[in-house]
Amino acid sequence: MEDLFERTILIVDDEAINREILGNIIQSEYKVIYAENGKEALEIIQSEASAISLVLLDLLMPVMDGNEVLKAMKEEGLITDIPVIVLTSEKSSEIESLKLGAADFLTKPYDLPEVILARVRHSIQLFENSKIIHATEFDKLTLLYSPEFFFGYASQFDQRFPNTVMDALVINFTHFHLLNQLKGRNFGDSVLTAMADGIRKALLKTGGIAGRNEADCFYLYIPHADNYNIFLDKITETLSSLLKPSEIRLRLGAYTDNERKFPMIQRFDHAVQACNSLRIKTTASTDICIYDDKMAEKEVFDAHLLQDFEAAIEQKQFKVVYQPKFNITGDKAVLCSAEALVRWVHPELGFVRPDLFIPLFEENGLVTKLDRYVWEEAARQIAAWKKELGVTIPVSVNVSRVDIAAPDMTDFITKIVKENDLSPSEYHLEITESAYTSDSKHIIKVVENLRALGHKIEMDDFGSGYSSLNMLTDMPIDVIKMDKAFIRNIQPGNKAMHLVELVLDIAKYLEVPVVAEGVETEEELKMLKEAGCDIIQGYYFSKPIPPEEMSRFV
Ligand code: C2E
Ligand code: CA
Ligand code: CA
Repeated sequence: MEDLFERTILIVDDEAINREILGNIIQSEYKVIYAENGKEALEIIQSEASAISLVLLDLLMPVMDGNEVLKAMKEEGLITDIPVIVLTSEKSSEIESLKLGAADFLTKPYDLPEVILARVRHSIQLFENSKIIHATEFDKLTLLYSPEFFFGYASQFDQRFPNTVMDALVINFTHFHLLNQLKGRNFGDSVLTAMADGIRKALLKTGGIAGRNEADCFYLYIPHADNYNIFLDKITETLSSLLKPSEIRLRLGAYTDNERKFPMIQRFDHAVQACNSLRIKTTASTDICIYDDKMAEKEVFDAHLLQDFEAAIEQKQFKVVYQPKFNITGDKAVLCSAEALVRWVHPELGFVRPDLFIPLFEENGLVTKLDRYVWEEAARQIAAWKKELGVTIPVSVNVSRVDIAAPDMTDFITKIVKENDLSPSEYHLEITESAYTSDSKHIIKVVENLRALGHKIEMDDFGSGYSSLNMLTDMPIDVIKMDKAFIRNIQPGNKAMHLVELVLDIAKYLEVPVVAEGVETEEELKMLKEAGCDIIQGYYFSKPIPPEEMSRFV
């Protein structure tokens, strides 16, 4: 195949006659540029390294000789960018040049033109081929294998060692995108490089190979081990110069391949799935999950749910239930609003819990359709209660992170509120705390807009994720909903209770009320009331109920 572009060769020689002889030979195939001494040559190389395919460099020259040029190129790392052939009449200086990184040499007086051209072509091609191999075999940032090569070598490993039980591991850094956002891409890159170093160190002990797929997703193929702590420990060690221990959040998913019954990529899919299943637990700083039969079952179950989604919407299998919230600031608890929660009554699987399908639908882009269905139902329900019970029960609906990305979200809400003759203040939106950290600028804009229209914004699951206090002061919200995880553990004077008090202080400073959710017992209620909490939601007062049962609380 013919080359698509003409390559440029730089000829460096102080004698005009030599430049001319070589130039005449070479210009039949290449574009030629000239320099008369080393200094001139170096300047050209420094300014146009990427445009030059080869340098033909005389060794004996005034001002700056050939080996000095090579030295300078080596120091500046240019010698790995451009191959150099040295031109010499003395054998003795060749060795020195080759040591300095020259690719080849031509001795004066010159050979036949064909021989010279052949050597020039050969040097350029060798160099370009190795560059292509390097560019694709290794990931540039971490110098681990790139994905294609990783999978290729992993398969070769299997062929060479058919009896070794191997594990597919996936390691990543939880909320890596946040690190990039908060500390910048360069910092993110140095974290990835450090992770790769840790992995390389651990591999010296375990054997096996490693690659990087994308962003913070590292793949390892190693002989089976009963535990993988060595990887997490080594990575933590290398990260400790960049991050505080509390900032290091690693996850590891593993799939042990006893029978080699799946293709390589699928084994890694299993490991990724194991790793993703850890996402839900946000409290542990490092975590390991091994793919097992249960996860295989879950995979089948998830596929089932995804397949049935459209029909479920059409056949109205999704039901909305309402959990009342009570204001406890007075002597008697008073119903003040309700949260809309979705239920799936599946014709074959029966009742399916939302935490089994909401995260799945979020991942697969279906949640917005479902949420809009729930939002419409809720708007209709507020209007229905008004008519039947003669009172307004404001309802809060859940908003997934994904929903906010849709450019017409606010228009949609406005439309359903109008269609049901509601005032926006009767319609609240619960946005989960972690949503604020993903594309915070956009989310803040949407929230500001909705508030300007008169909607109330409740920050859901506060304390469960990564809110920075900074953010809270910039953020327009109307209500904080404390994550039910702390309520679960409160005892007078314990850590969970201190956290609750802290949240209440923050809320007081921001002048917004706090909803405590998941309140199950009288003791919890008492402690929260004493601490100054305004609103309570939880089984103590009521489980989520169908709308027709709401009348008993009015
Ligand atoms: P969430 O928004 O934090 O909702 C509160 C969850 O706590 C509900 O679970 C509710 O039933 C439960 N809960 C309430 N009181 C208590 C209590 O005293 N003790 C305990 N142990 N739990 C209590 P549910 O309905 O299973 O919903 C789980 C999660 O699913 C919700 O958490 C929410 O994140 C999501 N979800 C539910 N419905 C929707 C929806 O329509 N759209 C979206 N995007 N997410 C939804
Ligand atoms: Ca909620
Ligand atoms: Ca919540």
